[in-house]
Amino acid sequence: MEADRVYNFNPGPATLPLEVLKEAQAEFLNFNNSGMSILEISHRAPQYAAVHEKAKQDIKDLMGLGDDYEVLFCQGGASQQFAMIPLNYATKEHPGSYVLSGSFAEKAYKEAEHLGVGEIVASSKETGYHHVPQQDELKIDPNAAYVHVCYNNTIYGTEYHYIPETNGVPLFADMSSDMLSRPVDFHKFDFIYAGVQK
Ligand SMILES: *Cc1c(COP(=O)(O)O)cnc(C)c1O
Repeated sequence: MEADRVYNFNPGPATLPLEVLKEAQAEFLNFNNSGMSILEISHRAPQYAAVHEKAKQDIKDLMGLGDDYEVLFCQGGASQQFAMIPLNYATKEHPGSYVLSGSFAEKAYKEAEHLGVGEIVASSKETGYHHVPQQDELKIDPNAAYVHVCYNNTIYGTEYHYIPETNGVPLFADMSSDMLSRPVDFHKFDFIYAGVQK
C-alpha cells in the first residue's frame, strides 16, 4: 500500500483497491492493444462490448443471480430511478407502495405522489426516522404494483436487517449505499437499483 493514500470510507465515492486503480491506469492510454483508451472506443466496438458483458456477468455472479435477472446501466443515478419507477410501473389502480424510512425513501415516494400513484405502507417519519419499519408495521396492499424500500438509509444510518414479506407484491429496493456490502438473498427482490457513483 502506498503511504500517502487516504482511506475514504464515505457512503459516497470511497476507497478502491490499489490493484484496480493501477490496472485502470496501466491500460488508460492503450486498452487491450487497441491503441486507444476505453473512453475513446466506440460503444459498439467488440473491445467495449466485452467489457460491458463481463461487467453485467460479474454483477450477477457477485449477487448470486441467474439469467432470470437483467442488469441495466442507466443514466441519471438513483434519483432518476425515483421518477422512472412510478412512471413505468405504477397506476392509479395499481399504485406504488412506499415504506418511508428516511430521506431517500421519502424522495422516492414524492415522485409517485407527484403523479398521483403513490401510497405509504409504513413510516417512521413521526419519530424522526429513528428505526426501519418492521414487518408487523407494514400494511401491504395486495393491489399495489410494487412495495418500495430504501434498504440502507444513508443519512439516518439505519439499515434493513430483514427482507420484507410482501405476499407476492413485487419488492423494489434502492440499495445505493449498501449494495454488495454484505450477503443478501437478492432473489427475494424483483427490482434493485443503485447510483453506481457510490
Ligand atoms: C445518494 C443516494 C441516492 C441518490 O443517488 P444519486 O445517484 O446521486 O441520484 C439515493 N438513494 C440512496 C440510498 C442514496 O444514498
